[in-house]
Amino acid sequence: MAKITTENYVAEAKKAIKNQVLQEALADLQHRFGRGTAECYRQLPEGPDLRLRAHDIRMKDIENLDVVLETLVANIRKNGGHVYFAEDGQAAVNYCLEVAHKHKVRRVVKGKSMVSEEIGLNDALVEAGIDVSETDLGEYIIQLAGETPSHIIAPAIHKTRSEIGSLFADKLDIPYDDDPSRLTWAARKALREKFLAADMGTSGCNIACAETGHITTLSNEGNIRMSTTMPRIHVAFMGMERVAARLEDHDILLRLLCRGAAAQNMATYVSYIGGPRSAGEVDGPQEFHLVVLDNGRSRILADEEFREMLCCIRCAACLNVCPVYAKIGGHSYGYAYSGPVGAVVTPLLVGINRAADLCQGETLCGACQDICPVNIDIPRMLLALRTKLAEGDSAWGVTPADRKEKLLFQAWSWMIRNRRLYDAAVKLAATGQRLFAQKDDMIGRLPPPVHGWTKGRDIKPLAAESFISRWKKSL
Ligand code: SF4
Repeated sequence: MAKITTENYVAEAKKAIKNQVLQEALADLQHRFGRGTAECYRQLPEGPDLRLRAHDIRMKDIENLDVVLETLVANIRKNGGHVYFAEDGQAAVNYCLEVAHKHKVRRVVKGKSMVSEEIGLNDALVEAGIDVSETDLGEYIIQLAGETPSHIIAPAIHKTRSEIGSLFADKLDIPYDDDPSRLTWAARKALREKFLAADMGTSGCNIACAETGHITTLSNEGNIRMSTTMPRIHVAFMGMERVAARLEDHDILLRLLCRGAAAQNMATYVSYIGGPRSAGEVDGPQEFHLVVLDNGRSRILADEEFREMLCCIRCAACLNVCPVYAKIGGHSYGYAYSGPVGAVVTPLLVGINRAADLCQGETLCGACQDICPVNIDIPRMLLALRTKLAEGDSAWGVTPADRKEKLLFQAWSWMIRNRRLYDAAVKLAATGQRLFAQKDDMIGRLPPPVHGWTKGRDIKPLAAESFISRWKKSL
């Protein structure tokens, strides 16, 4: 299964902030994609409000997911495809291994898929003695380096071209070069042989359409089309929520997805895949399997507070504008999904306590919702997660993350409801603060248990006399 290191969020974030190369790469990413996406929305013939319509489409599909999925499955089976519902990641992996064993698969080529990252597909295939090659250039780099993606769309964003040059020299046995186009050619040459030799191709699914019974994949490199059409078997993985009921709605989502993901009107390669090769067709797989993954999504669907998160189409636009992601990068989040989407989805999938720091780390600035092609209210759900961590929640199995903090706020709540006590406490604090060094009329260090507030900032001291007291005197 995929490695989950959400507990290391703070330590990894501190490391990332000190990494100058990463800081430059992230700043460049945000500059290019963040701004570009907003401009793309403005240029839509329907205008940016198409995002609101897309939100309604997604919510309607999610609320009718049972019927929509049934239609999708019936149509895919009619087209000759196989569909498997996987309750969790292990079941999805086992199904893929079964298909691989049945067909004596020895080599697999993979199109980029975050769901396969979520379930740890690569490691499972390798453990079973199968040779697996990522074919998206960024994913290929990451695989050669033995790392995990640090961005949903740009997985190798944290690597410099000289690092990639050294990596290719070492792993592909070629002379060192750091020219991007020559490095791309080297990867292309190595991958071409993999495509030709592969028995099975795997892919994700950007969005499926129930009405037609097809899945859609997008790429700018053509690798997914080769992974899904050249080998004799194609196994596609999709989160159970990634489906639109109608083709008309599917196409709206597709247009927005390309804008959100890469500030493009449309990806270079768009493939609609609806089953295996038909009689008389010259390409396409002999068998097509769709694995529909639950892995905790039913639980999200059942909760009205978080159901909206299933609208997500994993475009990564929110990463490209998030001020937190811009500083700490993707690895700090400790799971397949990073940035604002990861800060909500990861706790819901792996456990709210286990991933407690992720939602606490976000700023609630709202930039994620503003750029989201389906206008998901991420800040609302970040706050809902924080509430669960503060108060506990038996339905989600959450224990209060910090009992001391809870006690502190209970005391605070009791005090501010008691006027006299509050006034006395403010007076005491205004006098007591003189004990703490003040430079430039600011307090640089507070004592425990509130010392965390001044770890990264100075705070303004309390006024010597409160507003209420001055106001009363003026009456
Ligand atoms: S939350 Fe919105 S912006 Fe972020 S990945 Fe999902 S769809 Fe894209």
